[in-house]
Amino acid sequence: MLRCFEHWFGPYPFYEDGYKLVESPHLGMEHQSAVAYGNGYQNGYRGRDLSDTGVGLKWDFILVHESGHEWFGNNISSKDVADMWVHEGFTNYSETLYTGCEVGEEFATTYNVGCRALIGNREPIIGHYSVNKEGSGDMYYKGGSMLHTIRSVIEDDEKFRQILRGLNKTFWHQTVTTKQVEDYVSKEAGIDFSKVFDQYLRTTDIPFLEVSMVEKKAKKDREKQLQYRWINCVKGFDLPLLVQLEPGKWSWIRPTTERQSAACKLSSLDEFSVDKRFYVKVKK
Ligand SMILES: [Zn+2]
Repeated sequence: MLRCFEHWFGPYPFYEDGYKLVESPHLGMEHQSAVAYGNGYQNGYRGRDLSDTGVGLKWDFILVHESGHEWFGNNISSKDVADMWVHEGFTNYSETLYTGCEVGEEFATTYNVGCRALIGNREPIIGHYSVNKEGSGDMYYKGGSMLHTIRSVIEDDEKFRQILRGLNKTFWHQTVTTKQVEDYVSKEAGIDFSKVFDQYLRTTDIPFLEVSMVEKKAKKDREKQLQYRWINCVKGFDLPLLVQLEPGKWSWIRPTTERQSAACKLSSLDEFSVDKRFYVKVKK
């Protein structure tokens, strides 16, 4: 597990303190270099699969989650608990990464997507500043789903890994604001994710891709076009998407809130789909 985390996040941040698991009467907690453990030596979360896919029973939730905090939470800490997603969002994502290392990459997405059923979208992830008020519990699964979305847009796992390692190196043993983390990810990715962070961290709305299909008479035969635009999103929301405009073939589109169209070879809208790694909804 630590080898997997060192691969993705960089060196364990507390070698001089060691790494210990301390059996506790409560479920568990991320204490720096001494993880409290009380999951009863069973896989899952008290034997339960949080993703409801079977994948969450392949490993011990408390071991993986609380150890992931050594990087996000203990190495990089938020200055204000309002930004606690920096701890819980990335640590939730450490579960997806660990699934990829241990069970297989295809199961990482199964786990990540399965956990979306636990997202409430009732309150924003970022809480209120300067009054000791953390945000919604969505900081876990929605935070992890947002990071899986961002990784999928970057479409370069080596670059994504260097961003995670770079965060831990740049902010080594420091307290940070969400802004520092957001800016670092955008800068290193070379992609402006500011609106993506705004959408998922500061609102409770999940962007809808509104799609419809129109047929146009071309010179010889009829050409089908998919029309699409973002709705239910922040102003200027910008998230490229992998979609099927042709059965079995994935291609990138870059929707905005203005309607756009692309040639498609689908027999009906039923065949249209968005890559499930992206946490968005489709309105047909
Ligand atoms: Zn946690």
